[in-house]
Amino acid sequence: MCNRYKAPSRPEEEITLDTIKKLPKMYFTNITGGEPFIRQDLSSIVQELYKKSDRIVISTNGFFTDRIINLAKEFPQVGIRISIEGLQKTNDEIRGLPDGFNRGYETLKRLVEMKHPDVGFGMTVQDRNASDLVPLYKLSNELGMEFATASLHNSFYFVEAKNIIHDRPMVAQNFEDLVNELLKSSEPKKWFRAYFNHGLINYIYGQPRLLPCDMAFDTFFIDPYGDVMPCNGTKDKEVMGNLNRQSWDELWHSTRADVVREKVRHCSRNCWMIGSVSPAMHRFIWKPATWVLRHKLRLGKKYDMHELQSVRDYEDGKATKEQLDACSTCDMDAAASDGLSEASREDAHIFETSEVLKSKD
Ligand code: SF4
Repeated sequence: MCNRYKAPSRPEEEITLDTIKKLPKMYFTNITGGEPFIRQDLSSIVQELYKKSDRIVISTNGFFTDRIINLAKEFPQVGIRISIEGLQKTNDEIRGLPDGFNRGYETLKRLVEMKHPDVGFGMTVQDRNASDLVPLYKLSNELGMEFATASLHNSFYFVEAKNIIHDRPMVAQNFEDLVNELLKSSEPKKWFRAYFNHGLINYIYGQPRLLPCDMAFDTFFIDPYGDVMPCNGTKDKEVMGNLNRQSWDELWHSTRADVVREKVRHCSRNCWMIGSVSPAMHRFIWKPATWVLRHKLRLGKKYDMHELQSVRDYEDGKATKEQLDACSTCDMDAAASDGLSEASREDAHIFETSEVLKSKD
C-alpha cells in the first residue's frame, strides 16, 4: 500500500534542526515517515517542535521499542501512534516486516505499562485486513488506547498510484460495524470518530468529501527536503516554497503558495485522511455535531451505511464497479511519482536493483 521504503530520501539531504527552527507556531504537529525513529536526532527535533507546537504525535511502526520508550520518557506528553494493519498474520503480510506485529504490540504494551497518556493504534483499512477492524478496535479499548483509521490513498508520498478497494460492500460493512461500536461509547470523542469513519465509507465509494478541504490555508506538509506543500495526498509534489532557502513568511505569503492554494480549491482527489479532515471537522463543527446527534438519538441500530446514496446506488445496480473505480485516484497505467531529489533517486535505484539481485539469488 506504500512504497516509500523503496524510495527513501538520502540522509545527508534530510531536514535539519536549522530548518525546523524556521517553522511557525502550530496548534498540532504530526511527525511521520518513512519511519521517524530511524532519525537518531528525533529527540532534538521533538524538543525544538515543542517550542512551536502544543501537541505532537509521532506515527511509527513500533519496531524500535527502546528508542520509542526512551522518547516517551523524555517527553511524557508526546502522542505515539503505532501502525498495525491487522492481527498478527495480516499485519506481518501487509507490512512485510517479520515479527512486526509482536514488536509493535510489545511497544504498545510497554507504553501502557508505563502509563504513557497518549498512545494508540493506527490502521489503514483495505480488502486484506477489513475483517480485523472491529477486533483491533476492541483490543485498543481493552488496552485503553486511541484507535485511528485510514483507508488506501495514492500519492507521491506513498509512491503509489494503484491502490484501490476491490470489494467495497465488504470493506464498508466492516466500517459500518465500527461506526456502531463507536456510537455505543459514552465518550464524545468516539462519536466524532464515528463520523470520520462514515466519511471513509463515502471516500471508498469515490464520492466528494463530506467537508471541504482547506489544506494550504491553515495546514501544511513539509518533506525531508524542506519543500512545503498543502498535504501528502496529491499525485505529484505541489510545492509552495522551500524552507531551507526561504523564511516562513516569505514562503507562506508568496505568489507560488497562492497558486497552489488555488489548485487546492479545485482539487478533485477527495482524500479523507485525518490530517485534512480534522481541521475541517473543527471548522465546520456543526456538520459532524448534527450527524452525531441524529445518530445518538436514533433508537435500535444507530448507523446504516445505506444512508449514503452511493452505497444504495451500487447495491441497486445504478452504479457499476467500473464507474466507482473511475471516481477513485487509482490509475493502473500511471507510474507513481516519488517526490525524490535526483541524488536520492539514484540511491533508491541502487537499493532496488540490489533487492532484485538478492531475490534472484
Ligand atoms: S483533497 Fe485536500 S488533502 Fe487531498 S490532495 Fe486535494 S488538497 Fe490534498
